[in-house]
Amino acid sequence: MLESGKEIEDKRSLGLGALEAKELVRAENLVKHFPVQSGFLASLLNRGHIPSVKAVDDISFSIEKGEVFGLAGESGSGKSTVGRLVLRLYEPTAGHVFFDGINLNSLSSEEMRRLRSRMQVVFQDPLASLNPRMTIGQAIEHPARIHMPELSAEERRVRVLEMLEAVHIIPPKAFYDLYPHQISGGQRQRIVLARALVTRPDLIVADEPIAMADVSVRALLLDLMMDLKDEFDLTYLFITHDLATAKYVCDRIAIMYLGKFCEVGPLNEVYKNSGHPYTHALLEAVPVPDPQHRHTEAMPSGEIPSAINPPPGCRFHPRCPIARPNCAVDIPHMRELRPQHSIACHYAEDLLK
Ligand code: SF4
Repeated sequence: MLESGKEIEDKRSLGLGALEAKELVRAENLVKHFPVQSGFLASLLNRGHIPSVKAVDDISFSIEKGEVFGLAGESGSGKSTVGRLVLRLYEPTAGHVFFDGINLNSLSSEEMRRLRSRMQVVFQDPLASLNPRMTIGQAIEHPARIHMPELSAEERRVRVLEMLEAVHIIPPKAFYDLYPHQISGGQRQRIVLARALVTRPDLIVADEPIAMADVSVRALLLDLMMDLKDEFDLTYLFITHDLATAKYVCDRIAIMYLGKFCEVGPLNEVYKNSGHPYTHALLEAVPVPDPQHRHTEAMPSGEIPSAINPPPGCRFHPRCPIARPNCAVDIPHMRELRPQHSIACHYAEDLLK
């Protein structure tokens, strides 16, 4: 999307450094800790120290324009928090997010409001995302009202109808005045996509976008999202717990565990040649439609530990099938062991083919 002279001027006036032209998002050393509310007695026992949930702990990544960057991991790994940090729906405890060269954390709320039309979000529950008292037309029009005051009412209506058509809600006029409860779950998710598209964003953070859709329409929704990506020059941050879904759409993927990245790389490289035991386990858990296929490893036993007191050393060590004594002490850092393929495991070389 071409920038207006005003946007370029804004960047200059904010004194923002230019990123690589092809980079849309860059997260640098992102940290998000949520203080845990505790009572007076707990505060005394903790000697004034307020415990916190270490939801995201020092992660860095970039997303290129036009890319589908996947973020995968179990529930509680911190991936949704990353999505909210990228959108600046959360303020980071430390670190920075750059969007098209703009340091989001340096923007005022008014500057952020203007930029927000270029970044939208799609959550997993379309029913919860849509106001039951708004018609479909009103729901899709709403972001345009906020971010595009220059459009007349008629121009907004035309745009809403175009968006409905783009997400294959046809004929659009027949759906315009319906309410969310009058349409199917799959149609509701399309409406949420249409609403995200109405301001013509560059980035969509899709947080488990098909998790609540009927199995029969999931592939159709993913195909639609990929078609929309081409049609509207979109970039996706695609958050999912399901590696089978990620395989379908992502160009690169980051595997998250307890607030940290385990592995990041091109999708095919990570799927065919993963170097982290956690990635191995997640991939082994993906169902394979082949009766001859035998699982060689089980998912790691046990629950994901508490993010308030994450295990020392490698956070995965209590569940890791190949952990050694030093894993409980030494923190493994991300190492680029193949081109663009980085792994945080002391023994990654043993797993890579
Ligand atoms: Fe397992 Fe140790 Fe590697 Fe962590 S660093 S994944 S515990 S082998």
